[in-house]
Amino acid sequence: MSLVVPAPAPVHVPVVGGGAFPVRRVYCVGRNYAEHAQEMGFTGREPPFFFLKPADNIVVVPEGETGAIDYPPLTKNLHHEIELVVAIGSGGRDIRAADAQAHVFGYAVGLDMTRRDLQGEMKKQGRPWEIGKAFDQSAPIGPIVPATTTGPLTSGAITLAVNGQPRQASDVKELIWNVGEIIEHLSAAWRLEPGDLIYTGTPAGVAAVVPGDVMEGHVAGLPALRVAVR
Ligand code: MN
Repeated sequence: MSLVVPAPAPVHVPVVGGGAFPVRRVYCVGRNYAEHAQEMGFTGREPPFFFLKPADNIVVVPEGETGAIDYPPLTKNLHHEIELVVAIGSGGRDIRAADAQAHVFGYAVGLDMTRRDLQGEMKKQGRPWEIGKAFDQSAPIGPIVPATTTGPLTSGAITLAVNGQPRQASDVKELIWNVGEIIEHLSAAWRLEPGDLIYTGTPAGVAAVVPGDVMEGHVAGLPALRVAVR
C-alpha cells in the first residue's frame, strides 16, 4: 500500500562498537535525585513518576562531535538536565527490579531540555507538561555503549558544565530509584519494547542556557555529550 504522505524519518542512535539503536519511545523519570527534588520544592521519596517525549525530539550527537539545538520558541527559561539514559534491548511487562539488567541493551548520556517557565505554568494550572518537556530537539543524546562493555551502571560521576563552568555534579548511585527499580515501575504501567529509551532523571543544579552556550555532559564510562545552543 502506498503512503499518502512522506513517512517520518526513523530515529537511530549510533552504538559504540558498531550498529545503531532504533528508537521507539522516550520515557523520562521525574525528580529522581534528592537534591534536585529539593531544588524543585519537594522532599522525601515519592513513588517514581514518568512522562514521555516523542522519539523525533531526539537529537543524535555522534561521538567526538558537538551537536546543536535551536533555542526553542515561547520560553525565556530553557534549562539543561543532564541524565543517564538507559536503552532497552528486550521488552516485557511486570519486569522485577532483580531481573531488569537482562533487559538493558546499553547506556548513553542525554539532556532532558526543559522550557522551565512553561512547565511551571502547566504545573500551577494542573495541566499536562508536554509544552515544557516534549518540544522539538528537546532530547539530545550521545552514542549508546552496550551493557556488555560497561556492566551494570550503578555508580559513577554525572556532571554538566556550561562554557566550561560546572553546573551539575552528582553520582549515579544517588538516584532515588535505581535503574532496576525504574524498569520495574515503568513496566508495570507500560509494556517495554526494544528501542525504548529511559531518561533516568537529573541531579541538582539545573539552570538556564542561552544562545551561544555550549553544554558538556559526562557520565563516567560513557562518551561525553557536547551540545551548543544556537
Ligand atoms: Mn529530567
